[in-house]
Amino acid sequence: MSFKVFLLVLLVLGYTWASEYPKHVSETLKKLGDNIYGVFGVYEQVSPENRGFISNAYFVITSEGVLVIDTLSTYKLGKELVETVRKTTDKPIKLAVITHYHTDHFYGIKALKEAGAITVAHEDAYEYLSQPSSEAFLKSRQRLLGKHMEGTDLEPPHIAIDKGMTINLGGVLFEISHICKGHTKGDLLVWMPKEGILFGGDLVFDGRLPFLGSGNSKSWIRCLDKILELKPKILLPGHGKPMLTQERILDRVRWTKKYITDLRNTVRRLMEEGYDVDYVREHINEELIKVDISYAKVPVFHSVNPVNAYYVYFDIEREILEGE
Ligand SMILES: [Zn+2]
Repeated sequence: MSFKVFLLVLLVLGYTWASEYPKHVSETLKKLGDNIYGVFGVYEQVSPENRGFISNAYFVITSEGVLVIDTLSTYKLGKELVETVRKTTDKPIKLAVITHYHTDHFYGIKALKEAGAITVAHEDAYEYLSQPSSEAFLKSRQRLLGKHMEGTDLEPPHIAIDKGMTINLGGVLFEISHICKGHTKGDLLVWMPKEGILFGGDLVFDGRLPFLGSGNSKSWIRCLDKILELKPKILLPGHGKPMLTQERILDRVRWTKKYITDLRNTVRRLMEEGYDVDYVREHINEELIKVDISYAKVPVFHSVNPVNAYYVYFDIEREILEGE
């Protein structure tokens, strides 16, 4: 390769890398409906290159003010989210609802509070914040992201709810509910009944394996049934692409249900055959591919599925002990 060609390759690669990650959250802004907007992080693990912008956040503008759903994964990204709202409307940011207390959804909360929002989450947030592991995780994230984590603290929400609440902002209804333990112990759904729009947090994705490590795999299946009962027209997830048709939503919810069910059945069978958790974790990929070969092609299947199997093993063990 000549030096000129080499320079050209560097230039092209540099351009690709530079353009791959948004420099500001607002670069990803999409209008999703009348007065409904979303910003979309990359479908990756957190890294200094992506600045932690790996999750989505949404906002709805009403005549009385703005309601935000989720706050992104650092204080700085939360500030960029606020700036994005400010570029779109002059209305005050009244509320921010956090779908669950995982760091990629709540670490930006302080920026929303500073912007004047009342923040709402499930009361599980307090349990999360009271555990020493939350402090340890914050430190490890600070080591990983360095300056991108400046200003990020462990902040509680203003309002913690147990089952649900309905908010009427400027005549627009938002039904916030905790229907069951799924992805976490405190998943909240935000449902706009008139518009048929559901903000689903991390309960359903389009094109990625769900993570089963901090909720409950059995009741997650019930969560998915309840989502189907709502018959949403649009489902806006915590990661990845929005699901904009009922066919797509049905397809993705059913797929998620099938994966969790297949995984649970396979783990249970291996347990009954006398295998321990280490064996299950090591062999679950080949066992599940025997059930449905298409799992082999799902992104992150090979790395996340064994971790899911590990947690599902203990879910089932607990169910057996408790006689569920
Ligand atoms: Zn998430």
